[in-house]
Amino acid sequence: MAQDAISEALYERAQALIPGGVNSPVRSCRSVGASPFFVKRAAGCRLEDEDGHIYIDYVGSWGPMILGHAHPEVVEAVRFAATQGMSYGIPCRLEVALAEKVVSMVPSMDMVRMVNSGTEATMSAIRLARGYTGRPKIVKFDGCYHGHSDCLLVKGGSGLATLGIPGSPGVPPEVVAHTVSVPYNDVEAVEAVMKAHGDAVAAVIVEPVAGNMGTVLPKPDFLPALRRLCDTYGSVLIFDEVITGFRLAPGGAQERFGVRPDLTCLGKIIGGGLPVGAYGGRRDIMEKVAPVGDVYQAGTLSGNPLAMAAGLATLKVLSTPGIYASLEEKGAALEAGLREASRIAGVPVTVNRIGSMGTAFFTDSEVKDFAAALQADTAAYAQFFRHMRSCGVYLAPSQFESFFVSTAHTQEDLDRTAEAALESFRVVKEKCAKKMKV
Ligand SMILES: *Cc1c(COP(=O)(O)O)cnc(C)c1O
Repeated sequence: MAQDAISEALYERAQALIPGGVNSPVRSCRSVGASPFFVKRAAGCRLEDEDGHIYIDYVGSWGPMILGHAHPEVVEAVRFAATQGMSYGIPCRLEVALAEKVVSMVPSMDMVRMVNSGTEATMSAIRLARGYTGRPKIVKFDGCYHGHSDCLLVKGGSGLATLGIPGSPGVPPEVVAHTVSVPYNDVEAVEAVMKAHGDAVAAVIVEPVAGNMGTVLPKPDFLPALRRLCDTYGSVLIFDEVITGFRLAPGGAQERFGVRPDLTCLGKIIGGGLPVGAYGGRRDIMEKVAPVGDVYQAGTLSGNPLAMAAGLATLKVLSTPGIYASLEEKGAALEAGLREASRIAGVPVTVNRIGSMGTAFFTDSEVKDFAAALQADTAAYAQFFRHMRSCGVYLAPSQFESFFVSTAHTQEDLDRTAEAALESFRVVKEKCAKKMKV
C-alpha cells in the first residue's frame, strides 16, 4: 500500500463532493504541487494523519491554536459547556465573561460584539464605520486579507495571493468601487488618497502586522501615520487583529506598537479553535450597533456557549505570566534555526518575524510590501514545503502565509525543525539551482 493511501482515497472522495476537495482553498496544497493529507487527530504541536504520519505543526489551524492542539484546559471547558446545552440564542453568562476578558486585554476596546468568523468581524466593522461616518469609501492595503466579504476582496493576500487571483468573479465592480487599495508601509500613498478623498473615507483598515502576504512588519512610522491621518480626516481606523490579537501580546499589535485604533477585529485565537470572531472599540462608535443604534448586524449562533467557553479558557491560559516572553523566545529560536540552515545550505532567504509568527521568503531582498513578497521564488518554496513535510514538519502550503509557533513547541521540536530545514534547503539548492539567481 502506498504511503499516503488513506489520505489519497479520502481526497478522491472529497473532490467529487466538495470543490477542490477542501472547504478553504489554500488547504488543497495546489500552489506547492502537493495533495493535502487528512488529519486524524492532533495534540500539542503534533498532527497525525490518516496514514499514521506525524508532523510538527506550524500552521496551527492558521493561527488559533496558540496553546497547541487539544489543550487540556480548553478541552475541559468545552466538554463541560456541551453538557449544559450547545446553543441557546438567549444571553448566557459566558458571553459576558468573554466580553469582559477581551475588553480587559485589548487596550482600545470599550465594547465588543461577538460574531462567528474573522470575515464577519471585518464585514461588520466596515458597515459600522460607514454607518457611523455616513461615508462610503474604505482604504485598505495591497496583500492584506480581511476575509472574503465582497468589498474587501481587492488585491487581497492569503488564498488570492497563493492562487494569483487579483479579485474575484462574483464581485460586481460597483461593489468595490468604494474600495481603494494602496501599498503596505507606503505613508505617502495613503496621504495622497486621503488628500484626494479623505472626506469620503469611512475607514482605513489594516493588518497592523500583515500575516496574509507572509509576515510583513509595519515600518516605525506607518501605524502612527494612519492614526494621524484618520484623526485629521475623521475616518475610523480599523485594526484587523484577527491574526495578531492575543498573538503578539495580550493586547495584540496595538499594545506592542502603542497605537490605538478606533475599532478592532478579532478572530482565530479568540475562539480557541471554535468559530468565533469579534469586533469592538470606542463606545460612541459601538453604540451605533443595533439594538442601541441603527447599524444592523446579527447572528443565530453568535455568542454560543461552546465557542465562548473555548475562547475564555484560551485567553485565561494566555494570561499566565511569562507566556508571551516564552513565545518570543521560541519564535526567535525558530528564526535563528531557519537563518542558519539557509546560510549553511547557501539558499538566500529573508526571514520576517515578530513574536511567534513569521515567514521565510525565498528572496534575498527586504520584504516590506506585497510587491516585494511577490518577488519570492514560489517554486523554491514549494520544493522546500514538500521536503519539510517529508521530514515531518508541516508548514503553510503557500509562500504567502505565516508560520505560527505555539506554547506546545519545545526546544527539541525547534531543533528538529532546524535540522529538517537544513536538509530541505539543500534539496532546494540542488533541484532549483538552475532557476535561482545564486
Ligand atoms: C483569517 C483572517 C480573516 C478571516 O477570518 P475567517 O475566520 O477566516 O473568516 C480576516 N482577517 C485576517 C487578518 C485574517 O488573518
